[in-house]
Amino acid sequence: MRKKLIAGNWKMNLNVSDTKVMLNELVKKDLNGEVEALICPPFTSLDAAGEILKGTDIKLGAQNVSEYEDGARTGEISTNMLKDLEVSYVIIGHSERRTYYGEDDEVVNAKIKRALSQGLKVILCVGEDEVQRSENKHEEIVEDQLKKGLADISENIENIVVAYEPIWAIGTGNTCSSEDAESMCKFIRKSISTIFNEEYSQSMRILYGGSVKPSNVKELMGNENIDGALVGGASLKADDFQSLVNFGE
Ligand code: 13P
Repeated sequence: MRKKLIAGNWKMNLNVSDTKVMLNELVKKDLNGEVEALICPPFTSLDAAGEILKGTDIKLGAQNVSEYEDGARTGEISTNMLKDLEVSYVIIGHSERRTYYGEDDEVVNAKIKRALSQGLKVILCVGEDEVQRSENKHEEIVEDQLKKGLADISENIENIVVAYEPIWAIGTGNTCSSEDAESMCKFIRKSISTIFNEEYSQSMRILYGGSVKPSNVKELMGNENIDGALVGGASLKADDFQSLVNFGE
């Protein structure tokens, strides 16, 4: 049985004081214990967030990590630095990193290898853009991202989560239909069984991301192959995040 995961990707939002206000409110709320809750704030808020989340069931994640161990890499953050702050998850290969910062599948693969080797859990993001979807290339694109992103990985594969995030649905209010999201998550599970094996593909969690909100989370989570959500905008307020974890209740 795969435990559902609701992950909030705050992107470049909420400074340290906003983070404290949001999380101090969130930790007082009743959250469905059957669902794993994860908050991924900006790097600058990780320390403060970790202090507040300590002793709660809410996990802490980062939005990116360097593929290098340490040294002369101005502006970068290492796995070691994240682990020092009690971070357990890291998002890798988000479409915003791929598009705006030129991260290609090779870099994504190197980051995943580094994170897994250091015991971090990885949320690998994949997804097609609007043109690729209109040309009916979404499966081909996603399969290629999975094959390249997960190439030559054999260590700690149980720590990998995949998030299907169609770019055209991110921050647009334009959610992928529940049927299309399920169909792509099912396709991803099939691809994972080819890349690794059938047993592993059945235990791996596959999330959907793109305009998930309290009003549509329940329907999306009712699908057989959707094991959670990666949420941007609707994860920034404590009430909304509580609602997401409680599937809209
Ligand atoms: P929105 O939920 O704001 O559409 O963002 C989705 C996303 O990119 C999460 O990583």
